[in-house]
Amino acid sequence: MFRLDQDLTLTIDGPAASGKSATAKLLARELGLSVLNTGAMYRCATALAIEHNCDVEHEKRLVELVRAARMHFDWKKDPPEIIAEGRSFMQRITDRDVSALVSRYSDCVPLRQLLVGMQRDVRDAHPRLVSEGRDQGSVVFPDADVKFYLHATPMKRAERRRDQLLLEKGLDINAQQLAEEIAQRDERDRKKPYGALTKPEGAFVVDSTELSLAQVVDMMKMVVVSKARRASGPAGSEDGHGTA
Ligand code: C5P
Repeated sequence: MFRLDQDLTLTIDGPAASGKSATAKLLARELGLSVLNTGAMYRCATALAIEHNCDVEHEKRLVELVRAARMHFDWKKDPPEIIAEGRSFMQRITDRDVSALVSRYSDCVPLRQLLVGMQRDVRDAHPRLVSEGRDQGSVVFPDADVKFYLHATPMKRAERRRDQLLLEKGLDINAQQLAEEIAQRDERDRKKPYGALTKPEGAFVVDSTELSLAQVVDMMKMVVVSKARRASGPAGSEDGHGTA
């Protein structure tokens, strides 16, 4: 039975720059869960490939490279920091060269299989988990207790990413240009042969275009809490899905 104080898997799927990471981080904090940022893993693999001059066609070499780098999270940090080759990749993974190439590297099916296995291992080690990424509810954890699909218009997502790049890296990028990059990335992500961007079966859809981060997190928290109440209440009825 689904209870808030026991093992609990929440997933947040959705397109690039829809706010999955920030939302997952806050939701995890509010509910006392660990948080898994799977985009950081694909980004880290891409950064490693760039640094080791490994082209996307060299799938076997790419997988060996990522395995040898011993990619993992430092769970003592909040949010957990992605580590590979014994060093932090937290800064590197948000660089524009990585952002521009990550969708191509994440097409590599053997790489996806490796990372999906690592994500499931994370859940085994952290059974109270919010996991976010394009395929978490659809492929990696189809058995999740509550699944969310978070989206917003490409322009809204571009504006948020522009603000983030300005704040974190001092870069002033045109939002229109970012919106075009984001729309192209969405298109590629929807057509992936494996782990395509899609609304998972039974997911609660959250459109964050007109909502603040706090409002999105409150809404998700309400969904989780009320689902837990329904599961433990006398009627024990669950409808499993809906639109938030
Ligand atoms: O979430 P974030 O923007 O950091 O993800 C970067 C890219 O990594 C996505 O655009 C997608 O191509 C890839 N990715 C993926 N599967 C995931 C998470 C991210 O393919 N679970």
